[in-house]
This record gives sequence, C-alpha cells and structure tokens, in this order.
Amino acid sequence: MKTIGLIGGMSWESSAQYYRIINQGVRERLGGVHSARILMFSVDFAHIERLQHDGDWASLTAEMIDAAKRLERGGADFLLLCTNTMHRTADEVAASVSIPLLHIADPTGERVRAAGYTRVGLLGTAFTMEQTFYKDRLLSRFGLEVLVPDETDRSLVHDVIYRELVAGRVNDASRRAYREIMARLVERGAQAIIMGCTEIMLLISEEDCFVPLFDTTTIHARAAIARALDDR
Ligand code: GLU
Repeated sequence: MKTIGLIGGMSWESSAQYYRIINQGVRERLGGVHSARILMFSVDFAHIERLQHDGDWASLTAEMIDAAKRLERGGADFLLLCTNTMHRTADEVAASVSIPLLHIADPTGERVRAAGYTRVGLLGTAFTMEQTFYKDRLLSRFGLEVLVPDETDRSLVHDVIYRELVAGRVNDASRRAYREIMARLVERGAQAIIMGCTEIMLLISEEDCFVPLFDTTTIHARAAIARALDDR
C-alpha cells in the first residue's frame, strides 16, 4: 500500500472527512482492521485565509510548496491538496516535488463525464468560481461547460463557506439558500452540480438538489484510495 500525503487544515473540518473516507474505504477494500498509510501536514487556516483575501498568492504558493516538501521528506508516495481553492497553486506545488500530486479536478471531471454530463453548475469559494484555474481544467481536459451562480449568489456561497462551514457551523438557513442557488443553476441548464469546496458536503446532500451532486471531497478521497491500493 502506498503512503498518502495530505496537505490539510483548509479547513480541518474537511480534512477530518478525508481521513475518515480514506480509512473507511481501505477497510472496505481490504477488510479486517486494515487502515490507510497517511501522512498529513495541517496548516493554520487563519493564516491561509488572510493571505487568500489579501490576494497574496505568492505567499500561499510558498506555504503549499513547504507543506508538500515536508510530506515528501516524510515518505509520502503521492500528494493531495485537500481543498479546491488552493489548487490555484497546484502546478507550482507539483513542480516543486518529485512525487505526483493528484489534482482534485481530475477524478471529478472523469466522474462527471463518465456519468454522461457536459454542462455542470459549480459551487465553491469566489476564488474557485471566479478565477480560471479550476473551470479551465474542467473544460480543457473533460470538455465540461461550467456554469457559476450570479454575483449575489456567489457572494452568499462564499460567505457561508468562510463564516460558517470552515468554523464547523452548519446552518438550516444556509442550506435553504444553497438549495435555491442550485435550483437556479439547474434552471439555467446545469445537468449536475459540482460541490467544488471540500466543506460543502457538511451542508448539502442529494436530497437538496434535483440533479446529481458531485462531491469533490468524496471523489478526491476515493481516488486517493485507488491510487494507494494501486488499481489505477
Ligand atoms: N475547503 C475549501 C475549498 O475546497 C475552502 C477553504 C480554502 O480556501 O482552502 O476550496
């Protein structure tokens, strides 16, 4: 079994889900009391969040490279960045180490395409919904047309992530607001929704939406299991 390197803490609420999903998956696959070989480097999210909102991507890239190198030195065989947003730094992080980085958009794009969808709604932080690093990868590698909410809805989705979900607060009013936002994306033609922020799965589940949901946390964690157990 390969050792999985997790760059976590963004936020730890979702890193805890990665840890659970990966270990549960390994136990299901191998049986008994098998569990995953995992190294995690977990950052202080308050520091990361400040740099994000200051737009200091050079410092954020340096922080992610530092985390990746620590995991490589510790013996990880491959890396996961346990956040969609910080994949803005993915190319530089991948180039800084000699072990592979399993990009969160790749297994997600594969799953969406395998299910036969070509037009998807995307929920995530403003960075993920508005910048090109994520949407362009889904389009160029998987031919996915990506719809994002309008400006007012994007700001609500973003604020719920940073004010509630990363702090472990799960709110019924926010769930209702997300439901309405997803319904508007479906009205505009989204055939499925990508939950492109690793905390959204704490708030939203299948019954909240009329179309299939693709949860990046679960998909990414399962892709890590497959790679660790060497079946892809
Ligand atoms: N976990 C979130 C994501 O998947 C947001 C936190 C962060 O900015 O890293 O984008």
